Amino acid sequence: MKLIFEYDEQISGHVRDEPIDLELPQDLIRDELPLPNVNEIDIVRHYTNLSRKNYGIDLGLYPLGSCTMKYNPRVNEDIARLKGFSSLHPLIPSSCSQGSLQLIWELQESLKEITGMDNITLQPAAGSQCELLGIMIAKKYFAEKNEKRSKIIIPDSAHGTNPATAAMCKFQTVTIPSDKRGNMSLNDFKQTLDSEVAVVMLTNPNTLGLFEENILEISDLSKENGTLMYCDGANMNALLGISKPGDQGFDMVHLNLHKTFSTPHGGGGPGGGALAVNSFLGDYLPIPRIIKENESKFSLDYSVGKSVGRIHSFYGNFGIIVRALSYIKSWGSNIRRVSEHAVLNANYLVSLLKDVYHLPFDRSCAHEFVLSSKNLGEKSTMYIAKRILDYGFHPPTIYFPLIVPEALMIEPTETETKETLDEFASVLKKIALELKENPDLVKEAPHTTPIGRLDEVKAAREPNLRWLPTPDDKK
Ligand SMILES: *Cc1c(COP(=O)(O)O)cnc(C)c1O
Repeated sequence: MKLIFEYDEQISGHVRDEPIDLELPQDLIRDELPLPNVNEIDIVRHYTNLSRKNYGIDLGLYPLGSCTMKYNPRVNEDIARLKGFSSLHPLIPSSCSQGSLQLIWELQESLKEITGMDNITLQPAAGSQCELLGIMIAKKYFAEKNEKRSKIIIPDSAHGTNPATAAMCKFQTVTIPSDKRGNMSLNDFKQTLDSEVAVVMLTNPNTLGLFEENILEISDLSKENGTLMYCDGANMNALLGISKPGDQGFDMVHLNLHKTFSTPHGGGGPGGGALAVNSFLGDYLPIPRIIKENESKFSLDYSVGKSVGRIHSFYGNFGIIVRALSYIKSWGSNIRRVSEHAVLNANYLVSLLKDVYHLPFDRSCAHEFVLSSKNLGEKSTMYIAKRILDYGFHPPTIYFPLIVPEALMIEPTETETKETLDEFASVLKKIALELKENPDLVKEAPHTTPIGRLDEVKAAREPNLRWLPTPDDKK
């Protein structure tokens, strides 16, 4: 496989276009950029071939737990590409962008209904940025109340972004272990909750795919203690139309629009986040806010007041907002079926696999579940993940959450058929058998992909992410 620059070097004696003589002042003339000089057809073939070496949801199952890699209906793409949306300039006066303001406002209303919260912002670009915003809001809220609170409670099954956010906002993370049923241990929680605790950050259903059974008691105790409840709602795909974080006692909840509300994602973006809060925190949300003045007039309110300020330029990632509203509107009041099918698919798949792989928390799951391959040997999860590639599937999330050894975290999503789930289960069973009968075959996998085993340590320690011109090209 070549880099696009290497095609250039290969064309022997190619002729670069003569620079056009524009009689520009000398100091405005740039050096020739070291861009590759390649035929159009070679460019097309280069990138088409690269795309064929990739894997995506359009090629097959992508059961990456916690990431909700579901199929994204094409109609959302069509809508987002409508010229009025795709070429809208963010600085256009609001009198000329009424439709788009209405669109943002309507998505806000839908998500308020889905989460059971009072106020919302769509400005953050991702779930992790919502967390940052939420904890910044908590910080300001307590500062204004003159309360010194320095701790944030986070269970040990949480996504790494939760403690990272706490640290970024200069809070101390207090980790609570999980109990035998995969809930945050209620006893440990009770012993830890004190007047120093600013926020409890919980993921519900948690990253084990399990609903927090003590959520109401945890919320009540927090409330009595003056502590805020933050919900990492990345797993909302399990709850749409079934349960609202607002009813579970949360004061803030974030949604990952690119997960639950069907935007293609992976590889770092683009994404969209929504942070919904209870009314007593509404004034802290970022500006500008969309105001509905009457049935047909929307405006932007820039007054800062108690707001923590901006978290993103303009109004967030508008293209993601369009896709999310399109997705929600196309489901309408049937949106509950998304989660019903996501939960059904996950429970069906776990029923096929739990005889062969260890199921550490044997409860009915939500939209995902965590298996352990510890019964198949050390490092078996890594071997299995690589071997799955030979069968044409993307592997699940592995070695996460950290509390399960040799973890395989599987999220089939609602968009997969029973036939696909059956096939995936039979592949996982076959690999378990291969590991016993022909372990080298599995340990040396993948055998069929364009690139085999990578040196992951070297890749992490000495990343080489940028092409540099040869010394000759560096003027
Ligand atoms: C994905 C995820 C996050 C982070 O969200 P991003 O949108 O990737 O920043 C946080 N928590 C959980 C449980 C997640 O699955």
